[in-house]
Amino acid sequence: MEILGLEKPFQSRIVMQNAVKGITDFSAMTSLPKAMRERLSAEFRSAVTGRVIRKEESDSTVKLAVRFPDGDIIECVRLSDGSGRYTACLSSQVGCAMGCAFCKTGTMGLVRNLSAGEIVEQFVLLSQLGERISHIVFMGMGEALTNFTNVLDAIMELHREDRFGISFRKITISTCGVVPGIRKLTELDIPVRLAVSLVSADDALRSRIMRVNRAYPLQELKNALTAFQHHQERRLTLEYCLLGGVNTSKESAEELASFCRGLDALVNLIPWNPVPELDFTPPSEKEIRDFERELKSLHISYTIRRSKGQSISGACGQLATETKRKEKG
Ligand code: SF4
Repeated sequence: MEILGLEKPFQSRIVMQNAVKGITDFSAMTSLPKAMRERLSAEFRSAVTGRVIRKEESDSTVKLAVRFPDGDIIECVRLSDGSGRYTACLSSQVGCAMGCAFCKTGTMGLVRNLSAGEIVEQFVLLSQLGERISHIVFMGMGEALTNFTNVLDAIMELHREDRFGISFRKITISTCGVVPGIRKLTELDIPVRLAVSLVSADDALRSRIMRVNRAYPLQELKNALTAFQHHQERRLTLEYCLLGGVNTSKESAEELASFCRGLDALVNLIPWNPVPELDFTPPSEKEIRDFERELKSLHISYTIRRSKGQSISGACGQLATETKRKEKG
């Protein structure tokens, strides 16, 4: 806000209140003095720094590619559950350092962290699509818990009653298992939801697919989740991306069930979405059915997510790479 050179604090509030409503064009902010509107319009293109350079839609999923002034590009997605509930899937970083083998974003490496403002802007831009967004998930590009301060600042801004008023309970942070971040979140005692991308409950396999497991193996992760849950009394989601022929066996289901023991967790099965440059295959229908049957027999609560937006690469683990090269224009 300082960059705008506003004279009074209430003028910043006016700009923010407009942004909350999706109004980012200064000339439309009629509660600001006319001269100020004209100056701001002349000096700045808009109240948001990011510019939508691409918009793709499929199955009521909308994906935006947003370019920031330094040329870095991120993607964010608006998801719909078909019953009028809209969720913003936000990115926390340009690229990601974690290098999970099944994830397209992981192939980019980390370019940089997004600022809190750049995270909030994604919400503003997705809100401009025209529907009221009630839920937020940090499941876009990046590992949210390695950009902890900025993600937290953004969450506070999105939560504030005089800003966007999104309840903490409707905000989900997804992590690949960054234990220090989970512990920090536990200490802060903010009632956001937590989703952990588990993918395997076998240390050797998980370490092969997810480098984070070499630093924070399963027992450490489980200890951190147990502490989080004791503190928050909130159900966790364990994301389990089904990789054809890799983690869909009866043994894998048993290991998953054993990891779940003692946790109040809902397993979210996500059949892997094809990414041409990655060496995995989606699970067959039979593998999915058999895995579900095993989980049922082990009394594990689960849901299965048939990812929406596959055709626009807006599904889980599919954001990015094409934005690695900075597009101009
Ligand atoms: S799954 Fe998440 S943490 Fe892992 S590489 Fe992809 S974006 Fe990063």
